[in-house]
Amino acid sequence: MGYDDDNVFAKILRDEMPSHRVYEDEQTLAFMDIMPVSKGHTLVIPKTKGENIFDLDAESLAAVIKTTKRVAEAIKKALEPSGVIVTQLNGAKAGQTVFHYHMHIIPVYEKAPFQPHANDLEDSEILASTAETIKQTLLQ
Ligand code: AMP
Repeated sequence: MGYDDDNVFAKILRDEMPSHRVYEDEQTLAFMDIMPVSKGHTLVIPKTKGENIFDLDAESLAAVIKTTKRVAEAIKKALEPSGVIVTQLNGAKAGQTVFHYHMHIIPVYEKAPFQPHANDLEDSEILASTAETIKQTLLQ
């Protein structure tokens, strides 16, 4: 089975599904994870099609890591976490659930441990407000 054009992140890229965007350029898009494991959990995706690290060329992957660094820096500045996890999964057996390549940026807070495998949809207003905080920091 190849890349599915109807996966949720492909739909977000085409604006067929809502998302809380924090950053976009020619090659990448960053938006809030809808079931965050911690406040500020953000995803970065390439605009090129590919399920995982094996499908994408080095240029697309480099663009993703460049955006990841930029957004992670804004999250660090804006939300002051104790640490930041940057990670991505390749293949269902590795835990991947959405099959358009994505990098997770997960802030970690000493006083609010994150919950791996969060299943709760976050309130849209909270996501919008966190996205706005990160966006404003990116503009500084
Ligand atoms: P993974 O397990 O690495 O494939 O991660 C997929 C991530 O996508 C999970 O953290 C989900 O919470 C997140 N997710 C699923 N659907 C959406 C959506 N519509 N908007 C934003 N994040 C989503």
